[in-house]
Amino acid sequence: MYATLLADARFHDLLLAVDRDLAEACRAEGCGCGGRRHVARYARKPRGRPCRLGPEHDQRFSFCCAVDGCRSRATPPSLRFLGRRVYVATVVVLIAILRHGVSDARLGRLSEVVSVDRRTIERWRRWWRDTFTATPFWRAARAALMPPPDGTQLPAALIDRFGGDAQDRLVALLRMRTPPVTGPRKRAF
Ligand SMILES: [Zn+2]
Repeated sequence: MYATLLADARFHDLLLAVDRDLAEACRAEGCGCGGRRHVARYARKPRGRPCRLGPEHDQRFSFCCAVDGCRSRATPPSLRFLGRRVYVATVVVLIAILRHGVSDARLGRLSEVVSVDRRTIERWRRWWRDTFTATPFWRAARAALMPPPDGTQLPAALIDRFGGDAQDRLVALLRMRTPPVTGPRKRAF
Protein backbone atom coordinates (compact mmCIF):
# COMPACT_ATOMS: atom_id res chain seq x y z
CA MET A 1 0.00 0.00 0.00
CA TYR A 2 2.61 2.53 1.00
CA ALA A 3 6.02 3.28 -0.36
CA THR A 4 8.75 5.57 0.83
CA LEU A 5 11.78 6.72 -0.98
CA LEU A 6 13.95 4.59 1.30
CA ALA A 7 11.80 1.59 0.49
CA ASP A 8 12.36 2.12 -3.21
CA ALA A 9 15.03 -0.28 -4.49
CA ARG A 10 16.04 2.26 -7.12
CA PHE A 11 17.15 4.69 -4.44
CA HIS A 12 19.48 2.00 -3.08
CA ASP A 13 20.63 1.15 -6.58
CA LEU A 14 21.70 4.75 -6.94
CA LEU A 15 23.68 4.65 -3.69
CA LEU A 16 25.28 1.40 -4.86
CA ALA A 17 26.22 3.00 -8.19
CA VAL A 18 27.87 5.92 -6.37
CA ASP A 19 29.74 3.44 -4.13
CA ARG A 20 30.96 1.59 -7.21
CA ASP A 21 32.40 4.85 -8.56
CA LEU A 22 34.17 5.51 -5.28
CA ALA A 23 35.49 1.93 -5.17
CA GLU A 24 36.79 2.11 -8.75
CA ALA A 25 38.72 5.28 -7.90
CA CYS A 26 40.27 3.52 -4.89
CA ARG A 27 41.24 0.46 -6.96
CA ALA A 28 42.75 2.58 -9.77
CA GLU A 29 44.83 4.55 -7.26
CA GLY A 30 46.76 1.42 -6.22
CA CYS A 31 48.56 0.68 -2.97
CA GLY A 32 51.09 3.08 -1.45
CA CYS A 33 53.77 0.41 -1.95
CA GLY A 34 53.16 0.47 -5.69
CA GLY A 35 51.21 -2.81 -5.67
CA ARG A 36 47.90 -3.40 -7.36
CA ARG A 37 44.71 -3.54 -5.35
CA HIS A 38 42.67 -6.71 -5.58
CA VAL A 39 39.01 -6.97 -4.68
CA ALA A 40 38.47 -8.20 -1.12
CA ARG A 41 34.86 -7.35 -0.31
CA TYR A 42 33.33 -8.16 2.99
CA ALA A 43 29.76 -8.96 3.87
CA ARG A 44 28.00 -6.26 5.83
CA LYS A 45 24.39 -5.21 5.92
CA PRO A 46 23.63 -1.49 6.13
CA ARG A 47 21.44 -0.70 9.13
CA GLY A 48 17.72 -0.12 9.03
CA ARG A 49 17.12 -0.89 5.42
CA PRO A 50 13.41 -1.34 4.87
CA CYS A 51 13.25 -2.99 1.46
CA ARG A 52 14.41 -6.26 -0.01
CA LEU A 53 17.49 -5.92 -2.15
CA GLY A 54 19.83 -8.24 -4.01
CA PRO A 55 22.93 -9.71 -2.33
CA GLU A 56 25.19 -7.15 -4.00
CA HIS A 57 23.78 -4.60 -1.56
CA ASP A 58 25.09 -6.56 1.42
CA GLN A 59 28.74 -6.18 0.48
CA ARG A 60 31.09 -3.40 1.39
CA PHE A 61 33.67 -2.70 -1.31
CA SER A 62 37.21 -3.26 -0.11
CA PHE A 63 40.62 -4.02 -1.59
CA CYS A 64 43.76 -5.83 -0.58
CA CYS A 65 47.26 -5.13 -1.91
CA ALA A 66 48.46 -7.94 -4.21
CA VAL A 67 52.08 -7.72 -3.02
CA ASP A 68 53.26 -10.45 -0.61
CA GLY A 69 54.49 -8.89 2.61
CA CYS A 70 52.27 -5.83 2.16
CA ARG A 71 48.67 -7.01 1.73
CA SER A 72 47.43 -3.64 2.99
CA ARG A 73 43.70 -3.33 3.03
CA ALA A 74 41.98 -0.26 1.61
CA THR A 75 38.29 0.39 2.09
CA PRO A 76 36.87 3.27 0.06
CA PRO A 77 34.27 5.66 1.50
CA SER A 78 30.67 4.62 1.03
CA LEU A 79 27.33 6.39 0.88
CA ARG A 80 25.59 3.19 1.98
CA PHE A 81 27.57 2.65 5.15
CA LEU A 82 27.62 6.14 6.60
CA GLY A 83 26.20 6.67 10.07
CA ARG A 84 22.65 7.93 10.03
CA ARG A 85 23.38 11.55 10.98
CA VAL A 86 26.26 11.86 8.55
CA TYR A 87 24.17 10.21 5.88
CA VAL A 88 21.37 12.74 6.23
CA ALA A 89 23.80 15.66 6.31
CA THR A 90 25.51 14.36 3.19
CA VAL A 91 22.30 13.97 1.26
CA VAL A 92 21.24 17.50 2.28
CA VAL A 93 24.43 18.91 0.79
CA LEU A 94 23.91 16.85 -2.35
CA ILE A 95 20.44 18.27 -2.68
CA ALA A 96 21.81 21.80 -2.33
CA ILE A 97 24.20 20.97 -5.15
CA LEU A 98 21.41 19.59 -7.30
CA ARG A 99 19.39 22.69 -6.65
CA HIS A 100 21.94 25.47 -6.79
CA GLY A 101 24.69 23.87 -8.81
CA VAL A 102 28.15 22.63 -8.00
CA SER A 103 30.38 25.06 -6.18
CA ASP A 104 33.82 24.47 -4.76
CA ALA A 105 32.47 25.23 -1.27
CA ARG A 106 29.72 22.60 -1.55
CA LEU A 107 32.06 20.00 -3.00
CA GLY A 108 34.43 20.82 -0.13
CA ARG A 109 31.74 20.20 2.50
CA LEU A 110 30.87 16.94 0.85
CA SER A 111 34.50 15.89 0.64
CA GLU A 112 34.74 16.04 4.42
CA VAL A 113 32.59 12.92 4.46
CA VAL A 114 33.08 11.26 1.15
CA SER A 115 34.91 12.27 -1.99
CA VAL A 116 32.32 12.93 -4.66
CA ASP A 117 33.25 14.27 -8.06
CA ARG A 118 31.19 16.08 -10.67
CA ARG A 119 30.57 12.86 -12.58
CA THR A 120 28.93 11.31 -9.52
CA ILE A 121 26.75 14.37 -9.04
CA GLU A 122 25.70 14.16 -12.67
CA ARG A 123 24.55 10.61 -11.92
CA TRP A 124 22.38 11.94 -9.05
CA ARG A 125 20.86 14.54 -11.33
CA ARG A 126 20.00 11.91 -13.90
CA TRP A 127 18.48 9.68 -11.24
CA TRP A 128 16.07 12.37 -10.03
CA ARG A 129 15.16 13.38 -13.58
CA ASP A 130 14.76 9.97 -15.24
CA THR A 131 14.39 7.22 -12.65
CA PHE A 132 12.57 8.93 -9.79
CA THR A 133 9.96 10.49 -12.08
CA ALA A 134 9.07 6.98 -13.34
CA THR A 135 8.10 5.70 -9.88
CA PRO A 136 4.51 5.24 -8.64
CA PHE A 137 5.66 7.24 -5.62
CA TRP A 138 6.27 10.30 -7.78
CA ARG A 139 3.03 9.91 -9.73
CA ALA A 140 1.04 9.74 -6.48
CA ALA A 141 2.85 12.75 -5.02
CA ARG A 142 2.20 14.76 -8.18
CA ALA A 143 -1.49 13.88 -8.09
CA ALA A 144 -1.80 14.82 -4.41
CA LEU A 145 0.03 18.14 -4.42
CA MET A 146 -1.51 21.32 -5.79
CA PRO A 147 -0.01 22.80 -7.83
CA PRO A 148 1.85 19.66 -8.98
CA PRO A 149 5.60 19.86 -8.36
CA ASP A 150 7.74 20.49 -11.43
CA GLY A 151 9.50 17.24 -12.39
CA THR A 152 12.42 19.13 -13.92
CA GLN A 153 13.15 20.81 -10.56
CA LEU A 154 13.61 17.71 -8.43
CA PRO A 155 14.32 17.15 -5.65
CA ALA A 156 13.89 20.83 -4.72
CA ALA A 157 10.31 20.93 -6.04
CA LEU A 158 9.32 18.27 -3.49
CA ILE A 159 11.47 19.47 -0.63
CA ASP A 160 10.05 22.98 -0.86
CA ARG A 161 6.67 21.60 0.22
CA PHE A 162 7.93 20.85 3.71
CA GLY A 163 8.66 23.18 6.59
CA GLY A 164 11.70 23.40 8.84
CA ASP A 165 15.37 23.52 8.03
CA ALA A 166 17.03 21.55 5.27
CA GLN A 167 17.49 18.46 7.39
CA ASP A 168 13.87 18.46 8.63
CA ARG A 169 12.70 18.75 5.06
CA LEU A 170 14.83 15.90 3.85
CA VAL A 171 13.65 13.62 6.62
CA ALA A 172 10.06 14.59 5.80
CA LEU A 173 10.70 13.73 2.16
CA LEU A 174 12.21 10.37 3.05
CA ARG A 175 9.23 9.63 5.27
CA MET A 176 6.68 10.81 2.78
CA ARG A 177 4.16 8.15 1.95
CA THR A 178 2.05 7.89 -1.10
CA PRO A 179 -1.55 8.72 -0.29
CA PRO A 180 -4.18 6.00 -0.79
CA VAL A 181 -5.40 6.11 -4.35
CA THR A 182 -9.01 6.54 -3.27
CA GLY A 183 -8.30 8.91 -0.36
CA PRO A 184 -9.07 12.62 -0.19
CA ARG A 185 -6.67 15.02 -1.85
CA LYS A 186 -4.30 16.76 0.47
CA ARG A 187 -2.50 20.01 -0.12
CA ALA A 188 0.67 18.84 1.60
CA PHE A 189 2.02 15.75 3.26
ZN1 LIG B 1 50.94 -2.76 -0.94
